Amino acid sequence: MRTPDAAKVLIVDDLPGNLLALNALIRRDGREIFQASSGEEALDLLLEHEFALAILDVQMPGMSGFELAELMRGTGKTRQIPIIFVTAAGKEQNYAFTGYETGAVDFLYKPLDVDAVRSKVNVFVDLYSQRMETRRQVEALEKSRKEQELLMQQLTATQGELQAAVRTRDDFISMATHELRTPLNTLYLESQLRKMQLDRGRADIFDLPYLHAMVARDRRQIEAMMRLIDDMMDASRINSKQLSIRRVPMELSALLARVVENLTNQAAAAGSPITLDAGQPVTALWDEFRIEQVVINLLTNALRYGEGKPVEVSLRLLPQGACISVRDQGRGISAPDQQRIFEQFSRVASDDGTGGLGLGLFITRQLVEAHGGSISVESRQGEGSVFTVTLPLTPPVAPIP
Ligand code: ADP
Repeated sequence: MRTPDAAKVLIVDDLPGNLLALNALIRRDGREIFQASSGEEALDLLLEHEFALAILDVQMPGMSGFELAELMRGTGKTRQIPIIFVTAAGKEQNYAFTGYETGAVDFLYKPLDVDAVRSKVNVFVDLYSQRMETRRQVEALEKSRKEQELLMQQLTATQGELQAAVRTRDDFISMATHELRTPLNTLYLESQLRKMQLDRGRADIFDLPYLHAMVARDRRQIEAMMRLIDDMMDASRINSKQLSIRRVPMELSALLARVVENLTNQAAAAGSPITLDAGQPVTALWDEFRIEQVVINLLTNALRYGEGKPVEVSLRLLPQGACISVRDQGRGISAPDQQRIFEQFSRVASDDGTGGLGLGLFITRQLVEAHGGSISVESRQGEGSVFTVTLPLTPPVAPIP
């Protein structure tokens, strides 16, 4: 019967009658019998199939059973196949086969004894089946060992990523609470001071100029906290892929003029006048609120890190789209830092307390890319920086993931 796992047995004899008889004797389920009437024919079959056993007639014209066995022992593929020689001769001639020590060899004598034939063949075929089963188990074990190894590698990588994510989150929480604490502390101290004055009956100091200054100071602290919270919310929207862009027709040079105007006081406080070179009006479909956020982020950074020197904003229309650049002449950014400032929570170490949460440029880049645009920086330490944003005039065909 031909089944995929059938043990194959080769019988070789020059006499068809012998082949037929032997075949009938050893045939059974789960076994596949191949017949060859010469050594040459047998070699062809031996190269094609994997046999559990070969039963060779010793006396054949042309290649004898022993010669065939010697050829089998000389080839890797057939070396380990057990051989049963069928011979009419006495025992003394059996050792004429010189290759017997390399594999199992047995003898059957003519006239064949039915039980002896069956039991010898059964032993060899059973041995073969056991060997195959062991091989299958070893292969399965090896496969599962490799799978486990791969799983371990993936697990270790995921563990590393998780640890890094937890570290980043912890760093962020401590940074965010610190950044929120600073304006909150100032507000708290101010309110304590006011209460103290009122408790002492000093309501008279709360005149109009004092109240104006007080409101302006409070507003600055509250705005700082609102900015931080907005940035955190934007970063969380970006990370959960929920940042949406609402495109409306808008004109970019007017937006730049408005932002520069709104930052006049901040620029004056930083000692960095902002000049705008807007050229021609550029109208396209963009998210006005988000583009304004991009420009404000770049300009507030230029004021923050610009060391009190002039800041220039320009708008150009290039073939690839509208190009906004913000140039300062401040501290500049080293080449390695330029690689990472657009990443989340990435701040260049500073001991002067000028930095924020390290979210501004991350959000800026995401907003620009959500418009199908790009952002780049050119900078040298001590010589200032130029941030350039390019926005295509037509929305990209495929949405940016
Ligand atoms: P932050 O809130 O810390 O300013 P950003 O993402 O806006 O975060 O900027 C990341 C870092 O890049 C800043 O900490 C700063 O060191 C550096 N950086 C950004 N803009 C400039 C600039 N114009 N000049 C020098 N350094 C800058």
